[in-house]
Amino acid sequence: MNYNKKTVKDIDVKGKKVLLRCDFNVPQDKETLAITDDKRIRAALPTIQYLLDQGAAVIACSHLGKPEPSFEKWAKKQAEKGKDPAAITEEKWSKSLQALSLAPVAERLSELLGKKVIMADDVVGPDATAKAAALQPGQVLLLQNTRFEKGETKNDPELARKMAAMAEVYVSDAFGAVHRAHASTAGVAEYLPAVSGFLIQKELEIIGGALASPKRPLVAILGGSKVSSKIGVINNLLEIADTIIIGGGMAYTFSAAQGGKVGDSLLEADWEDYSREMVEKAAAKGVKLLLPVDTVIADAFAPDAKSQIVKSGEIPDGWQGLDIGPETVKLYCDAVKDAGTVIWNGPMGVFEFPAFAGGTKAVAEALSKTEAITIIGGGDSAAAVQQLGYADKMTHISTGGGASLEFMEGKELPGVACLLDA
Ligand code: ADP
Ligand code: MG
Repeated sequence: MNYNKKTVKDIDVKGKKVLLRCDFNVPQDKETLAITDDKRIRAALPTIQYLLDQGAAVIACSHLGKPEPSFEKWAKKQAEKGKDPAAITEEKWSKSLQALSLAPVAERLSELLGKKVIMADDVVGPDATAKAAALQPGQVLLLQNTRFEKGETKNDPELARKMAAMAEVYVSDAFGAVHRAHASTAGVAEYLPAVSGFLIQKELEIIGGALASPKRPLVAILGGSKVSSKIGVINNLLEIADTIIIGGGMAYTFSAAQGGKVGDSLLEADWEDYSREMVEKAAAKGVKLLLPVDTVIADAFAPDAKSQIVKSGEIPDGWQGLDIGPETVKLYCDAVKDAGTVIWNGPMGVFEFPAFAGGTKAVAEALSKTEAITIIGGGDSAAAVQQLGYADKMTHISTGGGASLEFMEGKELPGVACLLDA
């Protein structure tokens, strides 16, 4: 697919101040706030480095977690959670915000760039404005968590205008946030020439290319917990894939829809009709749809639960399916062997429990051995592939969980739509 948006290469940034939206929403240790995985920071480096090499001054920004910028709303939520009223104080609220400061990101980014990253105390307040005004070409400033501003998630034009006023060019490279129309991901593009960075370009070229003109056969592997969270993906991939493989918790709804006994497995009874329709639709379209033929069941949802293997649709009461079985593994691994492209979204089982990670691991291994273009979307799927040690064997692991899902659903991404067309 031809990427049809302007990128940093299409715009002159020399001597200019560039507002760069990154996805620095990194996982942190709850106690020490240490960054536990810096892959999102690393993913932003090529664009930052390019802008610096071109002689730009970079004003980076990002959200981190879900801070509540209004004390009243925060207090209300705490009360609803049943917190002791004595503990619902402005001081505690302020601490909850401090825990989501981007300062640890500034530190890590400094290490990775080998250059000091200046940290602002606010987003568009006096500190950020002054530091942005004084910023020189080759320097990097990081604004505070964009969600500390009430207007961020509301895409408030006033906030967008203030952010834009600090810079002359807007570059978005926050693929993980492009499915949200927020002030820093879309609103600012109203006020500045807006282009994408290399990460967004790469994500859209690879995933978009696989959706628009895949090397065939295209095999889509869909799993994860619920059918209901994957409807859009299933609908869209059913239109373009040659084979669809269903695993994970959603498989039990398909099984129940065909009259199978699923015991205490994850079941969305409201979606049985839909599952049945999908099976019929696949048959009518000539899309091969594979469902598990056997399953690993457990007597509890626990890492040390007692387990056994049974045929699909024959799960006794008191037991629940937590992984695909060995016959299914064989079937699925066979189905990807000669694929041209594999798009995988959703683990095959509860991979977080080693005893039930076998199916996910086997599929990951099969993908690592194919010649196919292999694309992993979805936050948990990416984590699974990484955790199981196959990350470097895949063509592409998306950095955006929700964003990659919405992209695979065929939805327009507001953070991309707002950029200048090439
Ligand atoms: P992704 O983030 O890749 O889109 P999902 O969020 O849809 O994936 O699903 C991931 C979760 O699904 C994992 O936490 C995994 O434990 C869970 N899961 C997979 N199979 C089952 C199952 N059989 N029963 C319950 N949960 C499951
Ligand atoms: Mg998930």
